[in-house]
Amino acid sequence: MEANQAEAAEESRRPTPHDLDVLSRQLGRPVRDVVEIPARCVCGNPLVAATAPRLSNGTPFPTTFYLTHPVITAAVSRLEAGGTMNTMNDRLEGDEPLAGEYRSAHEAYLAARAAIGERCGIGAVPEIDGISAGGMPTRVKCLHVLVGHSLAAGPGVNPLGDEALELISDWWTADRCYCAGAWDTTGQAPDRDLSRHGPQGLPDIVGRPAPVRKSATGGTAQ
Ligand SMILES: [Zn+2]
Repeated sequence: MEANQAEAAEESRRPTPHDLDVLSRQLGRPVRDVVEIPARCVCGNPLVAATAPRLSNGTPFPTTFYLTHPVITAAVSRLEAGGTMNTMNDRLEGDEPLAGEYRSAHEAYLAARAAIGERCGIGAVPEIDGISAGGMPTRVKCLHVLVGHSLAAGPGVNPLGDEALELISDWWTADRCYCAGAWDTTGQAPDRDLSRHGPQGLPDIVGRPAPVRKSATGGTAQ
């Protein structure tokens, strides 16, 4: 029974060609080095992509969990624009229990990344030892990263990611599908072949505005 459940979980994490097609449509660009889908919509579409801790070109890559669903990404961008990160950073300075939970989230992030590295056959990536993402362990610099982590890890692991999910519940909740109309499903997906050579893969846009997400949300990606 337990073995079957573990197999089912692994099966659910493995990206299918359809998942990769959906990811490139959600992001508006080809994706590369995506090794798992750690969180899915109730309909099965990806919410979060997990990128290998070392890219196929050899580059160490610390940002493992990448929020891909445009509805969630836009909602989190609204929080960022509204100053939620400032409030969280102020609280991290004064609230020691919260700061402790946040440090634990950082450790959980590193452990999850190590596990993904093992599962995808990459193993340890010493260059990024102790480096997580999103400002962890002491700051909040990208809420998208924290929300991606919370969705991947489940509730109770990243307190500020969990809070952000609560704060976007007017726009997105886990029990409903928000996929209809959220991305272009017509025509060809952004060309996956380009991603092997080009600057358009996931890794290259981290920390910058995404090239095509310049819609009503103001264009910020994680
Ligand atoms: Zn859906």
